[in-house]
Amino acid sequence: MKKRVIRTEGPPRAPAVLSSPGMRRRDFLMLGAAGALGAAFPAAGARLPDKVGTPAHIVILGAGAAGLSTASRLVQRLEGARITLIDARKAHYYQPGFTLVGGGIKPASYVVSSTSEYVPRGVDLIEERVAEIDPEGRKVVTEGGTTLVYDFLIVAVGMELDYEAIDGMEVRLIGSQGIGSIYNGPDAAAATWRAMSEFADKGGKGVFLRPNTEMKCAGAPLKYTFITEDHLVRRGKRGKAEIVYNANNQALFSVPIVSEKVRMLFQQRDIRVNYQRVLQAIDPGRRIATFRTPDGMEEQNYDFIHVIPPMRAPEAVRNSPLPWQQGAWADEGWAEVDRGTLRHVRYANVYGIGDIAGVPKGKTAASVKWQVPVAVDHLVADIQGKTSDALYTGYTSCPLITRLGRAMLVEFDYQNNLVPSFPGIVAPLEELWVTWVMKTMGLRPTYIAMLRGKA
Ligand SMILES: Cc1cc2nc3c(=O)[nH]c(=O)nc-3n(C[C@H](O)[C@H](O)[C@H](O)COP(=O)(O)OP(=O)(O)OC[C@H]3O[C@@H](n4cnc5c(N)ncnc54)[C@H](O)[C@@H]3O)c2cc1C
Repeated sequence: MKKRVIRTEGPPRAPAVLSSPGMRRRDFLMLGAAGALGAAFPAAGARLPDKVGTPAHIVILGAGAAGLSTASRLVQRLEGARITLIDARKAHYYQPGFTLVGGGIKPASYVVSSTSEYVPRGVDLIEERVAEIDPEGRKVVTEGGTTLVYDFLIVAVGMELDYEAIDGMEVRLIGSQGIGSIYNGPDAAAATWRAMSEFADKGGKGVFLRPNTEMKCAGAPLKYTFITEDHLVRRGKRGKAEIVYNANNQALFSVPIVSEKVRMLFQQRDIRVNYQRVLQAIDPGRRIATFRTPDGMEEQNYDFIHVIPPMRAPEAVRNSPLPWQQGAWADEGWAEVDRGTLRHVRYANVYGIGDIAGVPKGKTAASVKWQVPVAVDHLVADIQGKTSDALYTGYTSCPLITRLGRAMLVEFDYQNNLVPSFPGIVAPLEELWVTWVMKTMGLRPTYIAMLRGKA
C-alpha cells in the first residue's frame, strides 16, 4: 500500500491570482488577509483517509489549543476509540488575543469562550487536573483520585507561569502600581491595558523585558513594547517618556535576521536596549526593578513595567518521568519528545504537543497547528502497526505588531530559515497593514477552526 505523507514542511504557496498585475487593491487586501491567515494557520490540505477501527483508550491531558485540536483530529481518523480529555479549566482562552486586550485593541471578552464548546461528540471530558503521570504503568491519576489506564497518552498541558520566582512579584499586583503582565489571562491583560494607558497619558519611564526560560510566543514582549510606544506617540507624550527593553541574552529574537530587524526598529523608535538583563526582584512601593546582569545586580526605576515571568512545565509533568533528563529543558521540565514526530523519546505510546513539548522552536498556536496532524498521523500508524513519514519541521509564525495598524509576518523553522508563505507578495520583515488585519481580525476564527480539527 502506498504510504501517505502529510505535508508539514511549510504553508501552501500563494495562489497565482495574488500576483496578477490587473488585480485591484481591494482584492489584493482581501486575498492578502486570507492568505496571511492561512500562513499562520495553514489549511490542512489533503482529504482524510478512511477511518481506522480500534478499541484503544487515548487519554489527552490538557484541553487547550493542542488538546482540543488533537481530540478533534483523532475523532476524524478513528472509529471505536475511547478518547478522554482531562482539564479542570472550564473557560477556553484565545491567548494570541491577550496582546490585543493588553494593547486596548480588543475587550477581554474577545479572548474567552468555553472549553466544552469544542469537545467533539463522543469524547469524554473529565473536569479535573491530572496529578500523577505513570508512563511505566500506563496510567494517570486525577487530583480527585480517579485512575485512568491508557493505551496512548497525549500530553498537552501547556506551561506554568512562575511569577513567584521574581521576589516581590504577585499576580494580584497586575494592573496596580505601574505593573502590567498580559500573560496571566484575560483579566490581567485588561488590567495591564489600564495601567499602560495611565502611563501613556503621563509619560515617564517604561521598562520591558522577557524571561530567561523557554517562553510562549517570544514575539509578545516585543509587540507589547512597540504598542506601548505607539500609544505614547498618539497621545503626544512620547517626548516625556523613556522606554527601555531588557533582553535576557545577547539578542532580541532567536532568529538572527529578525533580531536585527527589531534592533533597527527599536533604534528608529528610540527604544533603548539592555542585553543580558534578567528580572530578579520588584519593589512595587518604590517602583524599582532589580535585574541580574553579568556584572551583578542592577536597579532600574520605572513608572510602568511589563513583567513576563519565567515559564516551566506544569507540576504534574515536572514530577513525572517525562521531562528531559539533562540540560535547561530538564530544569524547566519540558517533555522529552522527538522534535520531528512529537513522540516521547523513552515512552513510545506517549506524545507531547504544544507548549509542553521540549523542542527548540514553537510554543505558539501556529506551531500547534503544524504539530497536531503529525503526532496524530504517527499515533494512527501505531494503531495500524505501520509507520508514518509525517514530520514537523519546526514551522512557527508570529504576526509581530510594530505599531497600531502595522505588523510583520515572521515565519521560521528549526533551522532559523524564514519560510514566507507568500514570497514576493507579503515580505516577512515588512511592516504591513495586511498582516495587522490578519492578526486583529483573521486569526481568531481560524484558531477556532483549528480547535475543531478543520484548519
Ligand atoms: C500573550 C500571549 C500572546 C501569544 N501570541 C501568539 C500569537 O500571536 N500567535 C500564536 O500562534 N501563538 C501565540 N501565543 C501562544 C499560544 O497561545 C500557545 O502557544 C498555545 O495556546 C499553546 O497551546 P497548548 O495547548 O500547548 O497550551 P494551552 O492552550 O495553554 O492549554 C493548556 C491546557 O492544559 C491545562 N492544564 C494545565 N495543567 C493541567 C493539569 N495538571 N491537568 C490537566 N490539564 C492541565 C490548562 O488548563 C489548559 O487548558 C500567545 C500566548 C500568549 C500568552
